[in-house]
Amino acid sequence: MITCDKTRMEEKIKTFSRFGDTGHGGSTRLSLSPEALEARKEFIRRMEALGASVVWDDLANLYATIPGSENLPAIVSGSHLDSVRQGGNYDGVLGVLSAMEMAETIVKNQIPHRHPITVAVWTNEEGARFEPAMMCSGIICGKFSKEEMMNSEAKDIPGYTFGQALKESGFAGDEGNRISPDRCAALIELHAEQGPVLEAEKKEIGIVEGVVGMVNYEFTFTGQADHAGTTPMPYRKDALYAAAQGILYLHRELDQLDPSLVYTTGKISAIPNIHTVIPGEVKITLDARHRDMAVLDQVVEIIEHMPKEFAGCSVKTEKAWARTTVQFAPWLVDIIEKSAAKAGYPAKRMYSGAGHDAQYLCEMVPTTMIFVPSEGGHSHCELEHTSLQQCVQGVNVLLDAVLEIDKK
Ligand SMILES: [Zn+2]
Repeated sequence: MITCDKTRMEEKIKTFSRFGDTGHGGSTRLSLSPEALEARKEFIRRMEALGASVVWDDLANLYATIPGSENLPAIVSGSHLDSVRQGGNYDGVLGVLSAMEMAETIVKNQIPHRHPITVAVWTNEEGARFEPAMMCSGIICGKFSKEEMMNSEAKDIPGYTFGQALKESGFAGDEGNRISPDRCAALIELHAEQGPVLEAEKKEIGIVEGVVGMVNYEFTFTGQADHAGTTPMPYRKDALYAAAQGILYLHRELDQLDPSLVYTTGKISAIPNIHTVIPGEVKITLDARHRDMAVLDQVVEIIEHMPKEFAGCSVKTEKAWARTTVQFAPWLVDIIEKSAAKAGYPAKRMYSGAGHDAQYLCEMVPTTMIFVPSEGGHSHCELEHTSLQQCVQGVNVLLDAVLEIDKK
């Protein structure tokens, strides 16, 4: 099995972690910020030095292509270079660096390949500066309207839109350069797991079969806002106390379902949110995720049948949005599994709990993902870490998989 170069990979990780370096182990590289543009320029410089031709589409997605020996669609691999504020040095960027190292290994070792090999960078995956997340892969795949997205406002500069940032970046290219089914044979995104499972189960490679489906609900508890000092307890309709009981109810019921269900009340708002006033209205959210849509149907059933009243307050439930489970291309998933086995790395089939560009792109081109472990499961923070050895193992699986796809 041909393997990549550990020293080269180490140098890539070190160099790219300097773009937006926070000074204490992480980076802030918001989409299309000066730091993110620096990283892009370094990417382009390196890929051109390898002999790649680099183009970008109208959404600043980058495509660096090394020609193949035949006139075939490209094998594409990549991820994103933007990060959340005070994020780590692995989320997204590792997928780009891995694809770069895969391509460099092929070029430097003069490995013959029939298909062109494209290393891609997707713009604004995090949505940390311009909402929503996975914006540009989403536009390409018809999930979002380009016109609406152009008006998405920066969280760091009031009134500054994604469209303006795109124009000023110099990376608003030709729509004709977008990834398309006729120009892409397969797409693999390598990514840090961003969770604790691989490490806990002592697995080195995650073979990603898809992305879990999810449902999102909003609950409104309505009581009565009154004076905190003058209203005796029996006379109260405390919406926050009701919401607390509602959350407990949901936990008790949802815990009866499949143990791999995950659910979160991540957002709460209390009105009027003043310490001398009994909360009159409280809104909470519930985000539930599972790979099996039948389990999510059970979640919906529980929500729809929950009591309409807690602690004297009424409850209104409203479905905010839902997403069905995304299935990656089974033949590609099998290839990743074989490549991991060939290398002798302990591997595990799994679903991603987080969203990735691959989940949109898979609707257009055959797609899968490779996960490498996240130390302690940490992600979207400066603690984010994957050992150099684990990064290299990920690249080796990616490289072998690309060469296997090339034979098809
Ligand atoms: Zn990511």
